[in-house]
Formats: sequence, C-alpha cells, structure tokens
Amino acid sequence: MANGGPVEHGYPHLETVRAAITALYKRLSYDTIQTFSSSVLPADVAFCDTDDLYLGAQRVARELVRHYRLPDARLVVGFREMQHAANVELAAGPEYFVELNDRFRTHRRDIGAALAHEVMHVYLHRLDLSFQGTRDNEILTDTATTYLGAGWLLLDAYREDSASSQKLGYLTPEEFGYVLAKRALVFGEDPSIWFTSPQAYEAYSRGMAKARHDEQQPPLTAAGWAGRRRYARDRRHAQDTHAASRPGVPYTFTPDGRGPLRVSFPCPTCHQRIRVPVRGHVRARCGLCRTVLECDT
Ligand SMILES: [Zn+2]
Ligand SMILES: [Zn+2]
Repeated sequence: MANGGPVEHGYPHLETVRAAITALYKRLSYDTIQTFSSSVLPADVAFCDTDDLYLGAQRVARELVRHYRLPDARLVVGFREMQHAANVELAAGPEYFVELNDRFRTHRRDIGAALAHEVMHVYLHRLDLSFQGTRDNEILTDTATTYLGAGWLLLDAYREDSASSQKLGYLTPEEFGYVLAKRALVFGEDPSIWFTSPQAYEAYSRGMAKARHDEQQPPLTAAGWAGRRRYARDRRHAQDTHAASRPGVPYTFTPDGRGPLRVSFPCPTCHQRIRVPVRGHVRARCGLCRTVLECDT
C-alpha cells in the first residue's frame, strides 16, 4: 500500500476502476456481490490509543477477515519501519503476515483502513483475481475493498489541514468517493454518516455526482436534453453513413449490412457493455449485475 507524497486528485485511474468493478461482478457473480450489502461499521474497527496495540490490531484484522468471509484465514499483524504504509505476504495460507508501518503505532484510528486494503489482497489472491502490473492490481484492490464495504475507511483516512496531509491507497479521494457512491446506489446505503474527515465527505459528494452522471448517459432515458440531442444526431449519422462511433461518447452504433442498427453502451452499474436494437423505447436488463435499463434508442 502506497504512502506519502502529494495528494493526487480527479479521476486519472477511472478506466481501470470501472474495469475492476466489471471484473468483480464477473468473478463473484451478482449473488455473491449481494451478500456484501452491509459495510464494515465504525464500531467493528474502532481502535483507541489505550487499547493494546497488538491485541487491537489482531481484533480489527479478525473483523475484516469475517467481513470478507475468509473462514480459515488467520492474519498475523506486525509493525516495522518501512517506506510503504503496509504490506502483506501472499503465501499459501491459512496464515498471512501483514506488516504495518511503525507510524500506525501512534495513528491507531487508521489501522482499520490499512488492514481493509491488505486483507482484500488476501481475498483477491484466494479468488485468483488479479490485474496485470502493480498499478492496476492496486487499483483493483482499492476498488474491491470499497465496493465490498470496507473502503469507506480508506477514504476516511484522507485528511488535510494547513500543516499536513494524509491519504492511504492508490485511488484519488474522488475515485474512492466514486466507487463508494456506486456501491451506495446499488445497496441504498449512506456511508457519509460514518465520515470523520471533512475532506472525505467532500470527495464522496464529488464521486456521487460522477456516479449519477453515469446513469444519465444516452441512450438511457435519464439522459439530459443535450445528451439526447447529440445522440439523435450521431444515430442519424450512423444510419446514413454506417460510421460506427465518435471518440469521447460512451455509446457505439453497430451497423451491420443486413440487420437493423444496434447501439452498445456501458451498463451504468457494472460497466459491462450492453447491446440493444435501435427502435425507440427499449427496456434491457444487464446480464451481469441485473440492473434494469430504460433506454430511448
Ligand atoms: Zn496493496
Ligand atoms: Zn450491469
């Protein structure tokens, strides 16, 4: 897990984040994702400075192992001086060694956040789900942690004041907010009540706006006026010239010589591509996440 440096903002990893959500649905299935409808609660991972350091860290690790349903996994948590925030040794198990940066000895409130990420490494390792390369794999880990209910801790560990800043994980605060918002929209959850950091709350609000934006892209009926106008123009263009798509728009028309025109676009929930015929109002159901999509094609 990365540590330190200036805090990056915006959505530089968005494409990988979306691919990670799709990969989670594909690997876990809709039914398993549904079993993660409750998040880790603040009381589950509370850690105060009077708690015994090792016993407390073990207790929080056990709580996360229970949340992710890793029945026989046992985490052994240690502390040492290191450049990174945390690290886990991915061996055959069932015992896994997690090292936390020495600074967590005096920043115990963030131990839950660090362990949420490291225990997710174990979870993905056992699922045999990974992305190529460290960067993408860490983005997958942060996205999975957040989508499955423990990542609000990572966003809440983001704090800034005039003297210092702290952020854990590879996603930007806005990206954490975005994944958290996508989760909140699926499960009807409001994680903002758990935030202790005002910066986390702001990032969540921005991420929610972005997640809602995904739901308002044509051909979805929730698309705004400007988007629909642009869509109608692109459709005409596709019908006339059989040009497939323009860069920068999420939908693609597929003209095939004989059959009718079709349009494909990313599912706003899981980002799997959906393909429907162009014929006015169409109701489709995403085969991967089962979201019902009202489209005006
Ligand atoms: Zn990591
Ligand atoms: Zn979907």
